[in-house]
Amino acid sequence: MTTFPLFSLHGRTALVTGSSRGLGRAMAEGLAAAGARLIINGTNSTRVAEAVSALRDSGHSADGATFDVNSEAEIVAAFQRFDAEGIAIDILINNAGIQFRKPMVDLATADWQRVIDTNLTSAFVIGREAATRMISRGRGKIINIGSLTSELARATVAPYTVAKGGIKMLTRAMAAEWAQHGIQANAIGPGYMLTDMNQALVDNPEFDAWVKGRTPAKRWGRPEELVGTAVFLASSASDYVNGQIIYVDGGMSVVL
Ligand code: NDP
Repeated sequence: MTTFPLFSLHGRTALVTGSSRGLGRAMAEGLAAAGARLIINGTNSTRVAEAVSALRDSGHSADGATFDVNSEAEIVAAFQRFDAEGIAIDILINNAGIQFRKPMVDLATADWQRVIDTNLTSAFVIGREAATRMISRGRGKIINIGSLTSELARATVAPYTVAKGGIKMLTRAMAAEWAQHGIQANAIGPGYMLTDMNQALVDNPEFDAWVKGRTPAKRWGRPEELVGTAVFLASSASDYVNGQIIYVDGGMSVVL
């Protein structure tokens, strides 16, 4: 694939958390097509290896890093391994996330904490490890994955909403602290996308009709529809864009 030079990621290495499937995998494949070397992550080593093989089979450069984004020890060890192997992360996409649907009155504190940790705290910890190294090189791109719930509350997903709202402000905090070091931190807010996370909702005719009815585009989003925004935010084309969240949602955030 030929890429317009401003959007080229040749010579860049990207770590995408939660890229063994879903939106993370689609973005990883898109960054690879734009020329980046990819580090694929997930908790399941078989799925990580499968995603790495698929990228390599398509002629791209890719390696796996299986770790749990909730484990600070595993994150620190992964970055130490990158250092030892001479791998410098130029682009970080904090994408790994989980959703848990339950009314707040029935929600255990441990489940609240798990959703906050996986969707928000992990972005801080991994962001800190990546930025420490980016600062010493004077450049870097961080892309945090938010959601429509970065702006809007919906019933039964309280900790997810709080975490994704936090992603928006974490992104601004990263930009405020790290822009002076040549780092751009921005976020993407996907709308309702067709991934495993939403399979039960796609299979629910009422919810499916609600998404199609309320989204101006009148359909669910496809994972690969995040690629253009991810490549833009990972490339030199966005060097003066910082602290922003871009919604890729078929227009849903402007009408809800
Ligand atoms: P999926 O459930 O389809 O995929 C999740 C990915 O994250 C998998 O690769 C999974 O790998 C990985 N993952 C989950 N937990 C961990 C963990 N603790 N450590 C490391 N990796 C982990 O999710 P989506 O692709 O749908 O979502 C990706 C991101 O986009 C999330 O942050 C989500 O909140 C956000 N988002 C999704 C939307 C949607 O409509 N799908 C809408 C808005 C935002 P493994 O199985 O190996 O653990």
